[in-house]
Amino acid sequence: MSPPVVLVSDPLPGVLLAELATDFDVRRCDGTDRSELLAAVPGAEALIVRSATRVDQEVLKAASRLRIVARAGVGLDNIDVGAAGRAGVLVANSPDSNVVSVAELAVGLIVALARPFADASSSVHAGEWRRADFQGVELAGRTAGIVGFGRVGQLVATRLGAFGMRIVAHDPFAREELERAGVPGLGLNEVMRRSDVLTLHVPLTDGTRDLIGDPELALARPTLHLVNTARGGIVDETALARALREGRIAGAAVDVFADEPPRDSPLIGLPNVIATPHIGAGTPQAQERAGRDAVRAVRQAFAAVPPAGAGAL
Ligand code: NAD
Repeated sequence: MSPPVVLVSDPLPGVLLAELATDFDVRRCDGTDRSELLAAVPGAEALIVRSATRVDQEVLKAASRLRIVARAGVGLDNIDVGAAGRAGVLVANSPDSNVVSVAELAVGLIVALARPFADASSSVHAGEWRRADFQGVELAGRTAGIVGFGRVGQLVATRLGAFGMRIVAHDPFAREELERAGVPGLGLNEVMRRSDVLTLHVPLTDGTRDLIGDPELALARPTLHLVNTARGGIVDETALARALREGRIAGAAVDVFADEPPRDSPLIGLPNVIATPHIGAGTPQAQERAGRDAVRAVRQAFAAVPPAGAGAL
């Protein structure tokens, strides 16, 4: 009997591909090339993706032999989970793989907004010595508002607490976690009013789309630094750009955009915006953990055992 076909349509560490190849017929394609993807999926019994491959109804319809889509990462917004369920295709993700990497990036961006070392470094490399132009602020004693007190939000809270920041949070679904951490859970408007730093850690859903828009930003302090390492679409980029241009908030750091790459985002080019290209999970530790969970999910799907460790939906 020929081994099951596993199609890998986003990058996966070579060591994991080699490991899979011992029991599966591993095929590669570029999931961002739609025609290549649609040509490859009909033969696939398992599909491993990261965030670049869009697994929608069209792909699922073409993939008539598919048993499982394994997402080597956390977010599932590139997969039509409902359509997969209707087609009898299991969807597995790796919810814990990159939470530390994302939390560390968020904290790094918070520090980078407080102390403009990237611009200061470019200036020194350019032969300048403009100490007065690169003044910052201390984080200690300031208030950090955490929106979404899940896995990443909790790690960020612990790390910002170590800086001596006061922590408040908004997450109506995490009462127990907030109580355990001793963090006051407040309404979003109250968090907006109190925060010097606002960091977002909610998934993108119908309930969180444009969660931070004109009405929320109107409540913000002029000192506010806003950090989005969660998903584009949670912040209304037009409203955020307006608030930044008009000096109603002080700065923003954005790792995720409504459209990626962000060709038309009004945030691009603003001097008080740090923009990074969706690098939250961009560490070898996170990539390997996510890849291992995806491989394990595929193996277990073919062993007819529910995935352990990887989140099965
Ligand atoms: P999680 O599911 O553990 O936590 C999400 C939290 O958001 C939950 O506690 C939930 O109750 C809360 N929430 C949901 N809707 C809310 C609302 N309307 N208001 C307030 N809180 C709400 O998820 P996580 O592992 O902490 O990850 C958070 C997000 O980070 C992910 O959904 C993903 O979008 C993003 N992420 C980004 C990258 C990156 O590369 N930048 C990588 C991984 C994850």
